[in-house]
Amino acid sequence: MKFQLLPSTFDENGRPSARQHLACFVIDDCVAIDAGSLAMAATDAQRKQIRDIVLTHAHLDHIAGLPLFVDDLFATLEEPIRIHATERVIRVLEKDIFNWQVYPRFGELENDNGNVLEYRKIKPGRAFSVKHLSIKPLEVNHKVPSVGFVITDGKTRIAISGDTAEPEDFWRGVNAEESLDCMLVECAFPDELGELARASHHFTPQLLQKEICKFRHRCPIYVINIKPMYRERVIAQLKRLNIENLDVLEIGKVYRW
Ligand SMILES: [Zn+2]
Repeated sequence: MKFQLLPSTFDENGRPSARQHLACFVIDDCVAIDAGSLAMAATDAQRKQIRDIVLTHAHLDHIAGLPLFVDDLFATLEEPIRIHATERVIRVLEKDIFNWQVYPRFGELENDNGNVLEYRKIKPGRAFSVKHLSIKPLEVNHKVPSVGFVITDGKTRIAISGDTAEPEDFWRGVNAEESLDCMLVECAFPDELGELARASHHFTPQLLQKEICKFRHRCPIYVINIKPMYRERVIAQLKRLNIENLDVLEIGKVYRW
């Protein structure tokens, strides 16, 4: 399985900068998990192939690139972009994004080949297929309705938490899997912002350390979704905790699991 966290921003020479402002993970160049930087950072090959976008939740850093991605491809799409999301997330997108005020309601528009945008409802606990992948959504604990996922291509199986804090259902779900090749878990804030993390339902390194003992698999753990202004601090605090198998996911790097 090929896996990449797309960059969010670029330096003056066009190189990806080492801070994650937005969340967009691409699997095998053809399926996107969240769409924060999808329109801005997808390669030409990814732009050509990605027609399925799976969303954890509707916060802007996870969907910012979605309307622009559909817009960029509008005239050339030969099949619709399919958004896989829970009913509550779809409702937010239709009410607050694709509402003719912020952006066109692409679900009502067609190009010469037909529809350009379709929704596929997903439900926590119920696995669904996207291309060659089987994806199981698991409810997580965030400020708004959110899910994480267990994703497999038949050979490799990974889990991704999305934004969350203390996600009991998620731990139960991933622990029920026979094996996992890797786990991606968020850690948004540094320890000194524990109160803010609790209020906004995110992890800090210490909160993550307390929770990670509920995770039974001994696979590599990669930290994602670190708020860009606290990145160095969070990474330093995580290193001090010395949590087994834990590393920070590199932005832009192509992983193969
Ligand atoms: Zn969020």
